[in-house]
Amino acid sequence: MPGLKTKIERFAMKSALKSYINSQSESENSIDLHFNLLIERNGIASSIDRILSDLPSENALVITGPNTYDKLGKDVVEALGERLDSVEYVVYEDKTLTDWGVARLFDQLVAVKKGEISEYFTDAIKKNSDYDICFAVGGGKITDLGKIVSYKNFPYVTIPTQLTSDSASTSFASIEVDGKKVSVTGKHPNRMIAHTKTLRDSPNLNSGCADIMAKYVSCEDWKLAHTKSKDIQFSRGLYTALREGSLAFMELINNLDKKNGKIQITENFMDMVVTGIGVAGTLSYATRSTQPISGGEHNFSHALRSNLPHGYPVGVGTIICAYLHGLEWKPVRGTLEYMDAPITAEQLGVSDKECYTAAIKARTIRPRYTILKNVTDYQIGKAMKKQALSLKASSEQFYRLLH
Ligand SMILES: [Zn+2]
Repeated sequence: MPGLKTKIERFAMKSALKSYINSQSESENSIDLHFNLLIERNGIASSIDRILSDLPSENALVITGPNTYDKLGKDVVEALGERLDSVEYVVYEDKTLTDWGVARLFDQLVAVKKGEISEYFTDAIKKNSDYDICFAVGGGKITDLGKIVSYKNFPYVTIPTQLTSDSASTSFASIEVDGKKVSVTGKHPNRMIAHTKTLRDSPNLNSGCADIMAKYVSCEDWKLAHTKSKDIQFSRGLYTALREGSLAFMELINNLDKKNGKIQITENFMDMVVTGIGVAGTLSYATRSTQPISGGEHNFSHALRSNLPHGYPVGVGTIICAYLHGLEWKPVRGTLEYMDAPITAEQLGVSDKECYTAAIKARTIRPRYTILKNVTDYQIGKAMKKQALSLKASSEQFYRLLH
């Protein structure tokens, strides 16, 4: 993508950001940062040693999936078996994470109250076992299960085998309870082991990259929400780090080579991907909220209810919200395109109208102030026409068409 790199560099320090950095600081809340990411390039044993010296344990529970057991879970079970008194592992086989699926493995049905796992469930797990540490090795469903089982009970180590979002590093889990999908707060991972060889070859890595790129606009929504309500915990330094980091990340993507149309992922790039994912989790923990890492672009994705990997609709939402924030949206779109992530409604498998309706609905889908609340329906229609979504009508026609 010729010229994109220089463009990203040029807009990276636009005057708006410079003046923001140089302006008088308003009072800020203190934010506690703990960063516990272990990057593992070869085997898994040295990371296990480090974790066990930090978190002394005797009885480990390993949660894994049928495919991920062969991929990496077995190595984790073996490494723990050589070091601890006892190791038990369970394989979660269902396609979705449900309360009944958990009950089959742990004899306990998960109940959720106001987004929190009930004490009844956590107590039962604690009483019926003598685990003192939990490892989850797998994709999003498995790492979510680890967060739920460990909640209020014992330290939790997440070992993702796939990165289609930043979920592995956060405390938030998605589970079907009584047939309804709910988001719950579970255990925040005490450590994350990023086995880069496994992750590098995993499917839909571009979706995880798009979720990191989304911080380019989610941090703007965070700042905006802070100007509307002083109850929102905010840090100027973290805002700047998110903004600059996401720009640098986009630049890195555009510097990757392509061979036969396929992007060539390097070791160094993988370090940046897992660090980006780790930072997202750390920030959500520090602020006890997903606000800094999930703004209007995520609301758009939730409203669209797409079955595609998380980062794909989030990526399209990032283009829309970048435009609405008055940021440079073309490099966002170009970067997503360069790594073969969707940039149009058609590529998301939905109609232009569905995309537009989702952006309107995204304003109210959860109580969070984002740029989508700050603009009119017409501006949203214009954003869609102007940038990514390949709308054929003019923005005025499009607006009339839908009202
Ligand atoms: Zn996300």
